[in-house]
Amino acid sequence: MVTDNKYTVATGVIHIHTLDSDGTKTHDEVAAIGNELGLDFLLFSDHMTLQSFDEGKEGYYDDILVLIGYEHNDLDDCNHYLIFDLDKVLPAASSPADYVRIAAERGALGIMAHPDEIRGRDARFRSYPWTAWDVTGFNGLEIWNQMSEWTELLKFFNQIMMVFSPRKCLRSPTRRILRKWDELSAQGRVAGIGSVDAHGFLYRAGPLRLTIFPYKVQFKSIRTHLLLDRPLSKDLPEAKKQVYRAIRDCRAFVSNYRWGEAENFHFEIAGSSDTAISGDQITLGGTTEARITAPLKGRIRLIGNGLVVAEQTGREFSHRLTEPGVYRAEVYRGKKGWIFSNHIRVNEA
Ligand SMILES: [Zn+2]
Ligand SMILES: [Zn+2]
Repeated sequence: MVTDNKYTVATGVIHIHTLDSDGTKTHDEVAAIGNELGLDFLLFSDHMTLQSFDEGKEGYYDDILVLIGYEHNDLDDCNHYLIFDLDKVLPAASSPADYVRIAAERGALGIMAHPDEIRGRDARFRSYPWTAWDVTGFNGLEIWNQMSEWTELLKFFNQIMMVFSPRKCLRSPTRRILRKWDELSAQGRVAGIGSVDAHGFLYRAGPLRLTIFPYKVQFKSIRTHLLLDRPLSKDLPEAKKQVYRAIRDCRAFVSNYRWGEAENFHFEIAGSSDTAISGDQITLGGTTEARITAPLKGRIRLIGNGLVVAEQTGREFSHRLTEPGVYRAEVYRGKKGWIFSNHIRVNEA
């Protein structure tokens, strides 16, 4: 965690599978890896089970907070939905409209998993996209899912490189999903989170048998950083509220750790009397200015209403705003996507 005078940034990994479904390690084993890497929280989501939640496995494991939700899917195995802060798995026969709605009614946090997934030409991998776009009541979506991107990029000719350098191969969230997210965010707050979809799978390519993406490798890739009013509480119920509230309120940014530690990234929009951060809204005035600070030199982009409003290479960048809308920031290292903020809404004066 890092704290400056504005907020505390807690860094964690979201969407992790264990032996409770199709993962390859226990919660304890995965938590030990998270601790070793100095992460602040882990959000587990096994398929259609809350077994470990029922067994009381949520809590602190040394310094790391472990929270347990689950991943719901429909009867066609599409529309995967991460549901957190719910104590019971919803009926398996529910439609996406139903499980999204019921989760919301019960005060749970719901996030569309790998919504734009297109898997590559490799027939061993089918895709599990979101198809029910008319649903209402979701809190957010995965804008970057490591497994999805990896399988989309996987081709026959690149499989050796993809298996040996899985993190380096990642490019950035797809334009498809960023466009969708910008559109949805124009209507209201929609959280964008990054996830790994960690399983520790075994990959077979001819004579090769390899664990691709050991948990430890994945935990050094796509991370979600939460902006908290104060450091993460050591009390489980309070810490849980802090994490879920920050995601719900879009107080977050996403990074690929492969290109550098992103904790000190900063995006704000300052007006004459107040300053907004991701998740906030602010009224447009004569001096309203977007300010972005990157931890390392990169290509910084300001996106407004889905379009690039301004871009510059460096570590710091500010830009005067003249139009209302939803704004977010991106940072690239070379051609690789590194940091993606959530939106700030700028209202007409
Ligand atoms: Zn899934
Ligand atoms: Zn999953």
